[in-house]
Amino acid sequence: MIKQFIAQDFCLKCLGCCRFREPDSCWSPRFLKEEAGELASRNLLNKEQASSDKVPLRLGSEVDKNFLCLFLNPSSNRCQIYSSRPFECQLYPFLINRKGEKIILSVDLNCPFVKERRSTLEFREYAAYLSELLNSPHYQKLLLDNPQIVQKYDGVLELSQLGIIL
Ligand code: SF4
Repeated sequence: MIKQFIAQDFCLKCLGCCRFREPDSCWSPRFLKEEAGELASRNLLNKEQASSDKVPLRLGSEVDKNFLCLFLNPSSNRCQIYSSRPFECQLYPFLINRKGEKIILSVDLNCPFVKERRSTLEFREYAAYLSELLNSPHYQKLLLDNPQIVQKYDGVLELSQLGIIL
């Protein structure tokens, strides 16, 4: 499990995550190759859902017209599979961003926690930790095996180039 930058109680009060404006948004998480199968083996995904690399979404309520992750409980704002949520969810608001041939660790500035703290030492130290982690042999292999989680995100803050070519 990746060390987290954002305190959980802050996330629980924010209605930004796990909701997407479009069903095929690049912001909705992709599963690593083994993740969907693991959730299906616990009957948390059906066969059809497990055959996709995208976390399944459902339409929100009349009030919340977004597409919500199937695993989000909108009443409590909690992820129902938090301890085994996908790698991309553990990483967010940090993202693996493709820019031409370069793969860049980036962060979503729409996250209010990041917006407040992006100039702090705490933020710089966390970004350095994540960069070192993602450049380790284990995570380099994970990225090579799972190019579906490397996407082109617009309007993000670029932090550091990762030493990998996909
Ligand atoms: S799996 Fe959990 S953390 Fe990831 S998008 Fe769904 S509700 Fe959010």
